[in-house]
Amino acid sequence: MDIVETEAKHTSGVYAKQPLVIVRGQGAVLWDENNVAYLDCSSGHGVANLGHAHPRVATAIYEQASKLITLFETFPNDQRAALMEKLTAFTPGLERVFFCNSGTESVEAALKFARVSTGRTAILAAMRCFHGRTLGALSATWNKHYREPFTPLVPDFSHVPFNNIEALDQAVSAKTAALILEVLQGEGGVYPASPEFVQAARRICTDRGALLIIDEVQTGFGRTGRMFAYQHFGVTPDLLCCAKSLAGGLPMGAVLIGENVKNLTPGTHGSTFGGNPLSCAAALAALTVMEEEDLPRQAAEKGVYLIQKLKAIPSPLIREVRGLGLMVGIELKQKAAPYLKALQEKHVIALNAGLNVIRLLPPLVISYEQIDQVVDALEDVLTPGSSEGIA
Ligand SMILES: *Cc1c(COP(=O)(O)O)cnc(C)c1O
Repeated sequence: MDIVETEAKHTSGVYAKQPLVIVRGQGAVLWDENNVAYLDCSSGHGVANLGHAHPRVATAIYEQASKLITLFETFPNDQRAALMEKLTAFTPGLERVFFCNSGTESVEAALKFARVSTGRTAILAAMRCFHGRTLGALSATWNKHYREPFTPLVPDFSHVPFNNIEALDQAVSAKTAALILEVLQGEGGVYPASPEFVQAARRICTDRGALLIIDEVQTGFGRTGRMFAYQHFGVTPDLLCCAKSLAGGLPMGAVLIGENVKNLTPGTHGSTFGGNPLSCAAALAALTVMEEEDLPRQAAEKGVYLIQKLKAIPSPLIREVRGLGLMVGIELKQKAAPYLKALQEKHVIALNAGLNVIRLLPPLVISYEQIDQVVDALEDVLTPGSSEGIA
């Protein structure tokens, strides 16, 4: 069987497929079907913070799979209770948790919780934001390319400019149920919020009785150098969305819920797979590893190292290097796609963020030596005139 051809034949069509078959991973390395190694600076879009095939997560999955895989959340379970306790210990002020299966589902839940809690309908989001692809989350998402084929979307969503306190102050009203923000925008181009903006957002929402939802589906679990990125800013959201890296690679999402969120009564929301013991066991192992290996600190230190090395690349193609921890964007003066392809030919897998930004989201366990290899590959492809560069 030719794997690339088989997938090309049967694919839904919604993915731009790479001609590269990946069959195995370990730490920050992925291998193709011919046993060729690739350095992974995508982490499956920010999922593999612990690296691929972490033995602690693999063991937890194996052991739990032979005990109990599925259980609806109406029945308490040892793994789920332990996870609830462990997860909320990282988020003082957010004591309750709703489990689901993906990032977009965590956003859907937060939007519904905000409406049912406040009795209001209006949702504000930021320009350039990304919150997911189901219809509610898509209504919050900014990119026209994702939205327009699916209109009409959910009513009462609007967008304010990111990092503009005055515009935000004008936009939040007595009809606003919630403001949803990424404090470091991912898909939109790796743009960090200013501390002043995040703090003003918290104050304005509190003053007007609106809830603050922070979407940390991409920035959560150590990625930016703190367990959650909001913790850089000295604020606490009312609702915190997470997913991607939560369960060490298994599909899982969660919304952490503050005390201002009301009216969450039986039947208001639910999920068949949410809080299943298998995902809970994996997440419990993943969080334990994050804590024991101090992955947030690793991300902070390695991120400083990576950004400093990237800034030293003498390439006229680079407009700006920015980021926080190991969530790093290299904004080019031209389209990123050809450079991502050239990087892949050098066995480094990276992502774009918008048209012009190369986004690096390596596993937080990447070694300094591997970071050097990534920087060398980037320097080769971004330095015109080097034999490797693209003219
Ligand atoms: C990836 C992402 C989502 C959507 O997560 P899925 O699991 O793909 O549904 C939502 N918000 C942000 C910030 C993301 O990066």
